[in-house]
Amino acid sequence: MIEIQNVRKSFGPLEVLKGIDLTVAKGEVLTVIGGSGSGKSTLLTCINGLEPIDSGRILIDGTEVHAKGTDLNRLRRKVGIVFQSWNAFPHLTVLQNVMLAPQKVLGIPEAEAEAIAVKQLSHVGLGEKLNVYPSRLSGGQQQRMAIARALAMSPDYMLFDEVTSALDPQLVGEVLDTLRMLASEGMTMICVTHEMKFAREVSDRVAFFHKGVMLEIAEPTEFFGAPRAPELQAFLASTH
Ligand code: ADP
Ligand code: MG
Repeated sequence: MIEIQNVRKSFGPLEVLKGIDLTVAKGEVLTVIGGSGSGKSTLLTCINGLEPIDSGRILIDGTEVHAKGTDLNRLRRKVGIVFQSWNAFPHLTVLQNVMLAPQKVLGIPEAEAEAIAVKQLSHVGLGEKLNVYPSRLSGGQQQRMAIARALAMSPDYMLFDEVTSALDPQLVGEVLDTLRMLASEGMTMICVTHEMKFAREVSDRVAFFHKGVMLEIAEPTEFFGAPRAPELQAFLASTH
């Protein structure tokens, strides 16, 4: 379970998260939408401890992310994160790129790391691309490689930050299909996205961020069918 309790976070004078309260249950798929600069990415980077917070608490299965003495490396193995783009090592093959973290971070022996990487790359539909170099992959394939790389660490939670935003429209579907598959397998996920159809179909709940405040959170039917906050109504109208 991910528990976010009254989290505040500023960059200099700019308060980016203004007291966020949110709990994501095991197996839940939460989608986060909101305008640019509303604090969505910052929330994700705070959850896996990449950014410090100013006050409040974030707990992952009861472990406080920002407490002194918390083993952040261990926590980050539990909470995978995939960004809009990831710079793979260009001189390593797809397989070698995915093997790297299990070997270097988890200390898994090479043969076992290879087996894990093959399994995860096959899982995201890249079983035929093991020995090619990342530059030979399409944008959608590169994003699926990034997802396989995160999955190779056997995370319990996955955070996705606009993983389709940098893609050509015709490549978005294959990456969303991969997320759908993970959701159907029961992965606990927080997905920041602009893909409203995806949010509607895949989420257990959808949250709307506006200027550092979570203004609304509801099941998709209610969220899209009967949005309450005027800011959310305006946002949804603007995406049509
Ligand atoms: P979103 O993902 O919703 O677009 P972000 O969380 O990336 O929003 O950013 C929220 C606000 O915080 C923005 O105004 C952004 O410019 C600012 N911000 C984000 N990261 C930093 C940083 N490292 N230093 C200073 N300001 C930042
Ligand atoms: Mg962002």
